Amino acid sequence: MSLSQLAEKAERYLERLCVEIPSRRVGSEGNRAATDFFAETVASFGFRTECPEFACIDWEQEGAHLTAGGESFEASPSPYALGCDVSAPLAVVSSADELEAAEITDAIVLLRGEIAKEQLMPKNFPFYNPDEHRRIIGLLESKAPRAIIAATTRNPELAGAVYPFPLIEDGDFDIPSVYMTEDEGRRLASHGGEMVALESRARRIPSSGCNVVARKAMAAPRRIVLCAHIDSKLGTPGALDNAAGVVTLLLLAELLEDTDCRLGVEIVAINGEDYYAASGEKLYLEHNRGALSNIALSINLDAPGYRQGPTAYSLYDCPDAIAAAVRNTFGGYADLVEGEPWYQSDHMVFVQNQAPALAITSEGLMEIETAVAHTPKDRPELVDCAKLAMTASALRDLILRLESQAI
Ligand SMILES: [Zn+2]
Repeated sequence: MSLSQLAEKAERYLERLCVEIPSRRVGSEGNRAATDFFAETVASFGFRTECPEFACIDWEQEGAHLTAGGESFEASPSPYALGCDVSAPLAVVSSADELEAAEITDAIVLLRGEIAKEQLMPKNFPFYNPDEHRRIIGLLESKAPRAIIAATTRNPELAGAVYPFPLIEDGDFDIPSVYMTEDEGRRLASHGGEMVALESRARRIPSSGCNVVARKAMAAPRRIVLCAHIDSKLGTPGALDNAAGVVTLLLLAELLEDTDCRLGVEIVAINGEDYYAASGEKLYLEHNRGALSNIALSINLDAPGYRQGPTAYSLYDCPDAIAAAVRNTFGGYADLVEGEPWYQSDHMVFVQNQAPALAITSEGLMEIETAVAHTPKDRPELVDCAKLAMTASALRDLILRLESQAI
């Protein structure tokens, strides 16, 4: 199959995943449609396919209503938060030390300034959780205010493209919360000590989701794992992040259709990179407990194929022979360059478990993260499908090279 035919396929897959399916948030109907589509397509290329399931929640909201001193304020329910309908005095807090000293039980607390500068990691997030975040969450839970209002600043470096961003995005955290802009927060703060009324209309919906694990030649003693997260954040078509990675896996699966693999090849649509509970990642690790040591190389695709700039790869704990095979293979592709290391996304799941890893993204990742990711702007027009086709072809070449070197 020619690169241009592959690129045409990529366009169709992308359309399916981002336009016909408007949201792939974990637990939604669209998420299920996406994993079904991936499973059927990859199976059609001769892969044995399994869809291990996990329990999760979907979430719905119909806005929030906030008033103080006869004025009303614009606020939105925090994703995955419980709803509420409460009236209580307003306490204003701007640092963890202030929070520690504050009497806020039975108050509604407004968090603004320093304490609200970056999103707090979900309390049960397994892969990364700074002490400062744990401290803030712990203090909030022990003091148990009636509700939380977070006023968050525009902070693309730390908080990404979304403004205002939800300070809390955690289905395991049970104090109702909403979020608002810095300006609304400043206006509201002048009502400190007064009664405020907050109604947040939001609800959690028990649901389920699955990973899709597609395998070839798994009797081989060593395997290559290729993964891309199939879920998207709430409120984005998620074209670059990360339908683009998923589409590349489907192109690769087709390129490998008639290949007799001597290494096991496992292609995984992993479901949870943009979900507070990282459910798909946790499930994958659970199913691979004690079995990750046979991974010759794990390859994660997240946000590849940005229209502007080349595709960038980075290597993590790869033995010399594998690193050389990657550099030699990708060196033959003008659009594939070695980029900055990226200590996020699903390759870290492998790195933290001592499996060598290769990450593939776009060199313009910083621009994507600070201007596009997780917003309605992340549309298929931003993806260059020819780049996805080229990346799939380079990955096929890499797999064949690793096989020929008996790695
Ligand atoms: Zn992503």
